[in-house]
This record gives sequence, structure tokens and C-alpha cells, in this order.
Amino acid sequence: NRSILLASRPEGMPKRGNFQLITESIPIIQEEEMLIKSIYLSVDPYMRGRMRGIKTYVAPYELNEVLTGGVVGEVIDSKNPIYNVGDIVEGRLGWADYSVSNGKGIRKVDPNLAPISTALGVVGMPGLTAYFGLLNIGKPKVGETVVVSGAAGAVGTIVGQIAKLKGCRVVGIAGTEEKVKYLKKELDFDVVINYKTENVLESLKKACPNGVDIYFDNVGGEISDSVMSLINFYSRIVICGQISSYNKEAIATGPRVQGQLIQRSALMKGFIVGDYAEQFEEGYSQLGEWVKNGLLKYRENIVDGLENAPEAFMGLFRGDNIGKQLVRISN
Ligand code: NDP
Repeated sequence: NRSILLASRPEGMPKRGNFQLITESIPIIQEEEMLIKSIYLSVDPYMRGRMRGIKTYVAPYELNEVLTGGVVGEVIDSKNPIYNVGDIVEGRLGWADYSVSNGKGIRKVDPNLAPISTALGVVGMPGLTAYFGLLNIGKPKVGETVVVSGAAGAVGTIVGQIAKLKGCRVVGIAGTEEKVKYLKKELDFDVVINYKTENVLESLKKACPNGVDIYFDNVGGEISDSVMSLINFYSRIVICGQISSYNKEAIATGPRVQGQLIQRSALMKGFIVGDYAEQFEEGYSQLGEWVKNGLLKYRENIVDGLENAPEAFMGLFRGDNIGKQLVRISN
């Protein structure tokens, strides 16, 4: 059983040397437990925070322990009354070929509803994040202008599409021309700004002649400073992620946007998807239905091989992915 440990805590951008691949024997299950063979592994930006060794809303990763994250796998041995051999399951498991679980925090995935990989993306945690963050905090109304940063990623692609379904004008911000093209041509975004080649503020002014009603923020930093200067009265700012700062040891602090909030009577609210745990079933079912009806498109960037999981994780900070970044561990 191969698995990947956190060998040292990254300073700045994570490096290959922060991770270590080890091989041990396949674990043996006890009463109530099951053995899960990993099929897909999710790499997610929030994992960078857990590598810091500081407790936030999730416990930090310990050094020399197997990293954990979202995994879709198949039950291949079971002494658990609820899970049977052959079941496809999703949950927080090890960056490993095989994991043992007692079923806590695990859910069954119906392979007939959608491809099983989507349980880590559009019909999984990132989809729920987009759905609850946009609808519960953003509260989109027909005709409003929604700006989403990190627009071509797992969460951003879903936010933009749900906003379109709600009748909004959608402006995305992303980092490559390929992403800009994809969001415009495939996902029907109204305008997409390449923040690496354009003057973001100038392009935003052109893209949002009536100002910004909802800002769904995945990245923070200077991009957000630009968006905040264009917010409307009673606008809603959904703070989902701040990826531009995850590899920084010190973050610029001080009054940056608070004045804008006052002047525009605006609401800014952070959230974690777990805030909506009691409504997850509703979220899965609505997202699944939209995918089935072709109303929600999704894309996956799949890297093969457990040994390449660290590289796939690092790729999130280089912007390698369009849509959800996954690692295929087995077939
Ligand atoms: P993505 O699929 O969006 O991948 C990360 C993307 O971020 C990259 O592809 C890259 O695209 C962009 N990026 C990387 N570095 C920077 C930078 N310095 N400035 C601007 N953009 C950058 O990840 P997810 O969809 O999984 O997550 C998106 C955000 O949502 C993250 O901040 C994450 O932490 C947050 N999140 C929050 C949750 C919550 O519960 N609040 C739950 C899930 C995610 P590009 O080429 O455009 O730069």
C-alpha cells in the first residue's frame, strides 16, 4: 500500500521535498471497518492551510503522517453493516492506494447518477461550496451583475453557471487565455478578464457598467481590491477563498475595503461549506439534477498516479487546472 506523507512544512510555494511516498502492507480491517481501494483523489487549495501546523477550522496535518483529502473509492472488504463489497464511496481518506474506515464521514455514491469522479467536484464539496455560498450569501436576483474570481476552477465554474441559471450577468476573472475562452464559449460567461495580461480595474469598469451586485471571491489580494472599488449599494461579497495568500508567510493587513462596505451599505461574509452540512442532501440532489439535465457543465483535469498527487496539488497554485483537479489512483 503506497501512501504520501507530509515530510516537512512548506515555506512559500510547496515543493516536492515536502512530500514523501512510502510503501507498507495493505491494512487489515477490524469489526465495523471496511477496506477502500482509492480510485480518485481530490487535491484542494485548503490543504495548504492544514500544512502550516496551525489549527483553523480543521486540524493541521501532522508531520510524517499520511495526508488526507477527498477520495472516491470502492469497498473491497467490509465488516461494516452498512457498506458492502462493491459499493462506491466518498469521504475524507488517505492519500493512499488503500484506506480503512469505520464509515464515519463516508457517503455512498450512486455510479448510475453521474460519473463517480463528480462526487469530488460538481456534485461534491466544490459544487456545494458554489451552491450554498452563492445562493445563501450572494442571494442573486435576475439582472444583477455577479463577479467571480478564480472563475475557471472547481468552485468558480459552478458559481458562474448557477448565477447564469438565476438570470444574472456574469463576469469571470481567470489567469490564462485558454480559461478565458473556455468560460466564454463553453460556459456562456458574459465577460472574462485575464488578470495576468489585463489591467483588472480598467477591464472591470468596462465589463460592469452598472457596478457589481455580487462578488464571489476565491482569490483575495489585489484582484479583490479592484472589484471592491466597483461594488453597488446593498451588494453582497461572498468570501469563499483567498488563494493568492495561501503561500505567503505574512499577509498585508490594514483597512483596505471596509470603507467601501460602509459607503455602499454592503454585506461581506465568509463561510465554510460545512456551515451548510444539514442541507447537503438538498445540494447534492439539485446539483445532480442540473448536471443530468445539461444545465450545469463541468470539466476535470486528471493527473494519473498517486505518486503525482503532490505535483497536482502544487499545480493549483500555478493555475494548471481548468475545472476540478483530480488524481486517478486506479481504475
Ligand atoms: P481551483 O480549482 O479554483 O484551483 C485554484 C485556482 O486558483 C488555480 O487554477 C488558479 O487559476 C487560481 N490561483 C492560484 N493562485 C492564484 C493567485 N495568486 N491569484 C489568483 N488566482 C490564483 O480551486 P477550488 O475551486 O477548489 O477552490 C477555489 C477557492 O475556494 C480556493 O480559494 C479555496 O480555498 C476556496 N474554497 C473554499 C471553500 C469554503 O468552504 N469556503 C471550499 C472549497 C474551496 P488561475 O489560472 O485563474 O490563476
